[in-house]
Amino acid sequence: MNIQVQCCGIVVLALIWYFSLRQKPLGLASEKLFLLTMGVNSFCIIMDILSIIAINNMEHISGFLLALICKTYIVSLIWSGYFGLIYSRSDFRYARTKQVKGNILYTIILLIGTLIIYILPIYYYLEGNVVYTHGPSCIATYIFALLFVLVTLYQVGIKGKEMNPKRRRAIIMWMCIWIIAAVTQFLNANLLLVGFASVLGMIILFFELENPEANLDRETGAYNAHALGEYTKQRYEKQERFSAILVALNDRAIIESDGSSQQADKMLWTIVRQTDKIKDVKVFKTMERELVFLMDDEEYMWDVFQNLKEYTDNLCGENQTEQLKNPPYFVVLPDSLMLRNVEELFLMLRNFRVGKRKNSAENSIILDENKISQYKEKEEMEALIRSAIEGDRIEVFYQPIYSTKQHRFVSAEALVRIRDLDGNIIPPGRFIPVAEKNGLISRIGERVFEKTCAFIQENRLREQYGIEYVEVNLSVRQCEDPKLAETYINIMERYKLEPSCINLEITESASIRAKDILLENMRVLMDYGVKFSLDDFGNGESNLNYIVDMPVSIVKFDRDMSQSYFASQKARFVMEAAMHMIHDMKLEIVSEGIETEEQAQAIETLGIEYIQGYYFSKPLPGGEFLELVAGKSVHATT
Ligand code: C2E
Ligand code: MG
Ligand code: MG
Repeated sequence: MNIQVQCCGIVVLALIWYFSLRQKPLGLASEKLFLLTMGVNSFCIIMDILSIIAINNMEHISGFLLALICKTYIVSLIWSGYFGLIYSRSDFRYARTKQVKGNILYTIILLIGTLIIYILPIYYYLEGNVVYTHGPSCIATYIFALLFVLVTLYQVGIKGKEMNPKRRRAIIMWMCIWIIAAVTQFLNANLLLVGFASVLGMIILFFELENPEANLDRETGAYNAHALGEYTKQRYEKQERFSAILVALNDRAIIESDGSSQQADKMLWTIVRQTDKIKDVKVFKTMERELVFLMDDEEYMWDVFQNLKEYTDNLCGENQTEQLKNPPYFVVLPDSLMLRNVEELFLMLRNFRVGKRKNSAENSIILDENKISQYKEKEEMEALIRSAIEGDRIEVFYQPIYSTKQHRFVSAEALVRIRDLDGNIIPPGRFIPVAEKNGLISRIGERVFEKTCAFIQENRLREQYGIEYVEVNLSVRQCEDPKLAETYINIMERYKLEPSCINLEITESASIRAKDILLENMRVLMDYGVKFSLDDFGNGESNLNYIVDMPVSIVKFDRDMSQSYFASQKARFVMEAAMHMIHDMKLEIVSEGIETEEQAQAIETLGIEYIQGYYFSKPLPGGEFLELVAGKSVHATT
């Protein structure tokens, strides 16, 4: 009997079953499908052996039983092909309805195939050692099995780029082995290879993809980063809620120094071992040497969180052999569906972990809708700023500044705007705080400065419009940059700009944070011929000492300070006192935020030199600003 190959197949399948079932399953869809496919293939090879035995003993059994056994064997072949197809489709990123529709269609084809094979006649060949079946039923089997194999190959071919490349390779190999076996058996019917080809396919799938060991992290015994990605991706695709706790070591020495990764792994191993007793929790280790605990139930998650804290606090105790110097950081996500997909999940866990590292006072952070939406807004704004810088959508508006002595506009402030892709203008209040944090403000600042220089030069603002200088804001970040003066001087030289056309605005916070660098920058720029203003005077903790220290020529009263004059008698005294002191230092004043004629008149009467505010004009795009200053549409205030 030609049965040895099949017996080998059974032994191999038994081994694969043993290794597959030895590990606790992670719960991936592909894992379940693989076991089903294994089941069908095992059945297939058993039926293969039974059919050979039945044909060899055909004179002892009824024709019906013989046909039933042989047909069940060949039917199981097309079932095996069908599962091959369904298994490979589980990796395609189809919309769920498309996936289901496709699977229903293939199931219908499978059932029709099964029916046809059972109905059509089958013939047997037995001579010496050579045993096989043939006839219409077998031809139908070839057709249906080939159909499934070809559809699988076609789909892997067109959808292949979306697939896990390992899975793609494994499935292509499996299908090719099948085709070779089928063609060989078709040409030489006594070589019964098809059943064994399925076993070879199983070997490939097992070693390439479905070996549960491949999902484990060797050092800690937890599931590995790959498994975390696959598992959470699947749960997001099915829209299933889960809760997550990220545990990150807080001992810099362990995490950062070379060769200490072993020590970090040992610490993580200790935590995993300690938490082995916690039921219904899946523990993963990430590439960054953190642990992620996943569980279904939010209520339960709080218990796990408490437990984890206790375990790790114990590890920090003095008398432990395995010691943590500091308790780890925790990021707790009570409900995964607060985030849209697995990419966001990782981004969030990682981001908040990093965020916490800087501030070591609090070692756990619990994510909620609010924190997440704030973070997303910040991310979106950051993307918007970057695209605006790259797409040249940083614009400069100009707000005229009126001289109470000359009764005309003598200068202007350059104020940055971003235009989004829909053409809407975004005011600086929304993006400057984000840009200050991530450092993009320096690039924005330079762009604004360059555009302002070009604007002054191209329109000959001083000669044609009587605008003596333009004030440009400097961010705190820029003031901390030792190369600021050099960069700005280079830009002015490029535009051949008279330096006295520029007045740079600094703020008190810049002078507090980077006084020495700022003073050096100011010295170089002032030697070159640029003047400085102190912006935002009057906001919060304004301190006259800063004015004494800073070599500025103008002080700008912010809107609150300007308007305090009209608020109360007391505020008015403070404002007048500040004004007198500033004038005593031979500095000039710009009053910002003046909105009415009455305010403008009062400020002028008080003796403040310049007025900036909506009363005269809001900040305007370059063209409109030129029209305004050319059109003499200046409101007389006297
Ligand atoms: P700032 O430098 O104090 O600019 C004055 C702000 O007051 C401008 O707001 C201006 O539109 C507004 N303003 C002027 N007159 C009135 C008024 O009568 N009423 C009211 N309610 N507001 C008035 P904007 O353009 O939104 O700028 C806000 C802040 O953004 C600026 O305050 C400045 O700190 C910052 N900023 C603007 N452009 C730049 C820039 O190019 N670089 C840097 N680093 N910061 C900038
Ligand atoms: Mg300003
Ligand atoms: Mg200001």
